[in-house]
Amino acid sequence: MTGGGARRLVILGATGSIGVQALDVVARSDDLRVVGLSAESSWERLVEQATAHGVPRVALADPDAGARAAQAWTEGEVLTGPEGLVRLVVESGADLVLNALVGSAGLGPTVAALGEGIDLALANKESLVVGGELVTALAEATGAKLLPVDSEHSALFQLLADEGPGTVERLVLTASGGPFRGRRREALAHVTVEEALAHPTWSMGGKITIDSATLMNKGLELIEAHHLFGLAYDRLDVIVHPQSIVHGFVHLCDGATLAHLGYPDMRVPISFALHYPERVDVPVDTLDLAAVAELAFEPVDEAGFPCLALARAAGRAGGTSPCVLNAANEVAVHAFLGGRLAFPGIWEVIEGALERIPPAPVRAFDSLYEADREARAVAAELVQGLTLGGAAR
Ligand code: NDP
Ligand code: MG
Repeated sequence: MTGGGARRLVILGATGSIGVQALDVVARSDDLRVVGLSAESSWERLVEQATAHGVPRVALADPDAGARAAQAWTEGEVLTGPEGLVRLVVESGADLVLNALVGSAGLGPTVAALGEGIDLALANKESLVVGGELVTALAEATGAKLLPVDSEHSALFQLLADEGPGTVERLVLTASGGPFRGRRREALAHVTVEEALAHPTWSMGGKITIDSATLMNKGLELIEAHHLFGLAYDRLDVIVHPQSIVHGFVHLCDGATLAHLGYPDMRVPISFALHYPERVDVPVDTLDLAAVAELAFEPVDEAGFPCLALARAAGRAGGTSPCVLNAANEVAVHAFLGGRLAFPGIWEVIEGALERIPPAPVRAFDSLYEADREARAVAAELVQGLTLGGAAR
């Protein structure tokens, strides 16, 4: 916070699921002032948000949308293109940036914020999956804080706050199991986009909802947790908990286990990250465990949902492998949403891309941008092969 005034906040991906909930948190807070908002192409919505929240600058990644916004909105400044996004981050005098973009497009703004020493509330898990080592090293070098927004990671971050070094044995991420929990692998061949988009407990953007259905979301979260908390993969577990009430567990060296609970509402971790280290009121019901009555847990069906094992293996392989995994997943999910790939095709494409592109060391961010490009090209070919081969609908 600067000079005791409100904290100056830039929200990237303001028109998305996380962005809209973040603006709801901001509207209820005296401690936050939004100085910049961004979207890809939803310029009308973005201009409405800027007007409603008195925001002086917006950025649109899509140049055409940016041109329209500039014509329609003369009360503030409109930046465009990927450079516009970076300028919004570094030139708005922000104390804090919320990165709620989707996909590896979030890496550039993550690097821009941390490189300037600006604290970063990170919903965009793909930044950490793709560039974990470099991103965390950058935060360390500039002293910028990396505050997780992902609910499981926010939970673990809160639980770990007072733990000294050497006391943590294992961390556990909970997974809802998605809409296809309990289905046999063969039954997944013909699921529809509509079924995959019907998440049982969370209402989220399209890409993460499909990731939740394949369990790739939990795979990405394992890699995210590895980088955020510095624990080896064999000390990170996933357990299925269909109610999404417990968000994470920490097993400690003295036999104690800490858990973080609450009704599933992303405004809780968003508010925690935006106000850290303070806590403020969020209008959610107090957890009524007597009404919940029972908390259910079960092991992950790793054979039925291969994405989790693929992610763990890519994380262990390190180098460019998590970047390849992520890029192939983005291409495959996009193809599935477009009706060009069957549901199991998602992991077939990812597995194929990882086989064709061996892990290479990551020396600089350029190695990542290169691996991302290569993996997208390979994945697109694999999607086409599967479609032509008749595996897709
Ligand atoms: P949405 O798809 O709902 O929103 C994405 C936002 O990013 C939109 O504002 C969109 O603009 C913008 N955007 C998309 N692509 C680009 C691009 N290439 N360049 C610039 N801007 C872009 O996503 P979510 O809010 O669901 O998720 C955001 C991130 O948070 C993801 O990484 C997700 O994994 C993570 N997350 C989300 C949770 C949730 O509950 N939704 C929970 C935990 C993590 P436009 O409107 O113009 O398309
Ligand atoms: Mg999560």
